[in-house]
Amino acid sequence: MKKRLWWLLSIPAAALLLLLFWPRPQPAVLSPTELARAAEGMDSIRIEATFLPDSRSMRVRQELTLLSRADEPRDNLLLRTYANAFQSADTSPLNTEADFARFYPEGFSMGALMLQSAAVGGQPVLHRYLDDAKTLLSLPIAEGWQPGETLSVTLEYSLILPKAASRYGVWDDMYVFGNAFPLPAVWEDGAWRTDEYFPVGDPFYSETFNFDVTVTAPEGYLCAASAAPAEKSTEDGKTVWHIVAPACRDFALAFSREYQVSTKKRGDLTVQAFTRDKSQGKEALRYALRALETYSQLYGPYPYASFTVAEFAFPHAGMEYPGLILLSSDVLAAGGETLERAVAHEAAHQWWYALVGSDPINHPWQDEALSEFSVLSYFSIRHGRANAEALFQREYLPSQQITMTATTGAPLSWFASMSEYSILVYQRGAAMLWALDQMMDGGLNGFLHHYRDAFAFRIATRDDFMNTLAEHSGQDYQPLLIDYLDTIMTP
Ligand SMILES: [Zn+2]
Repeated sequence: MKKRLWWLLSIPAAALLLLLFWPRPQPAVLSPTELARAAEGMDSIRIEATFLPDSRSMRVRQELTLLSRADEPRDNLLLRTYANAFQSADTSPLNTEADFARFYPEGFSMGALMLQSAAVGGQPVLHRYLDDAKTLLSLPIAEGWQPGETLSVTLEYSLILPKAASRYGVWDDMYVFGNAFPLPAVWEDGAWRTDEYFPVGDPFYSETFNFDVTVTAPEGYLCAASAAPAEKSTEDGKTVWHIVAPACRDFALAFSREYQVSTKKRGDLTVQAFTRDKSQGKEALRYALRALETYSQLYGPYPYASFTVAEFAFPHAGMEYPGLILLSSDVLAAGGETLERAVAHEAAHQWWYALVGSDPINHPWQDEALSEFSVLSYFSIRHGRANAEALFQREYLPSQQITMTATTGAPLSWFASMSEYSILVYQRGAAMLWALDQMMDGGLNGFLHHYRDAFAFRIATRDDFMNTLAEHSGQDYQPLLIDYLDTIMTP
């Protein structure tokens, strides 16, 4: 009797012990040594910034150390200064017919990058803007920049945020500096890329850099960034963060006094959410961990040591940066499947944009359609194949029933509106990959893992995607892909 009772008592106790010590699934993350190896030899960008909320601005000193990998000598360096596009309503990417009032709730508001000084190799230089929007900053290199030569450039400037619900703007006391720091334009086929800042899509094309950022803000502000800070200190009413972010295509920051932070650690990975409502942040964190775990199993390890989710005011769902995703207040408030899909989409961009770079101006499908297909794969693994099929029928299949004048494989300049872009590039693009996966008997995710390994921290062209697919599968899927990408489809 005594013995039997012991057994009865021990079953729940054993179950509890098992639950406590059962290994929790963890997202696979590149080890610090693997990341350091990948980052070795990349150009570096050092930023010292002071955030000044009273004037919606940031004072910045930025040093770039850049090695010329071009085959030919160059006589200028071209930097992308996207913040200047916000100077006038004529050039603002937020000035769209459909969304102007949602981006600028109080009407147009000015934002800018005010350059105070530029020096190349320690010598002050006279800068020149090559476009009306002043997003193409050209610095002369008097002696010429030879192949294999390292150039050091120092900029001093102020960033001013517009009062706007934008990835570059302040609204609802959330200050967002997205695509704010000047980065070199991509040098391609013997020339600098000079694409305009299109209002549709994410027209930000860049290589990877090692960022070292020190940022100061008035005490009381929280800071969400592309990497978790290595150090933080508060003194004399100011908080200083030191942030090291290796191998990133961009570096973004968001500040708010209203942010509440939730943190989870899983092995080497720190996952954080900065939201005004803590329970919304916790829900987003749950989905973020699931997404990182699912994608690291499907496509290979997540590249960075931290993953951060931050709330911002925005009329669409979200925006991706390396190591950081921004989610709109509306998506966070909606929660449930709406939030889970948004997190799964933006998290997938860590593989299809941050890790494997592509040209988001000429081939936006290459990161957007892949991210949407990843969402369908996530739903299939997390919620069952039937759930993913239902999601596909409901959200993606209707895109096949509409005739449109652009194509899924078109460049950004072809799309008249966000809705046209979303139907063709996200939905029809994902339908293309769904069809491809069926032709490959469910083998597309296996190919995407291979594609990620082949192009990690590099840029994959459309031809790279096609050729790698043909080599990996031994099949010719071009007819299907060309049909979706380059043909105006009629139902
Ligand atoms: Zn996206």
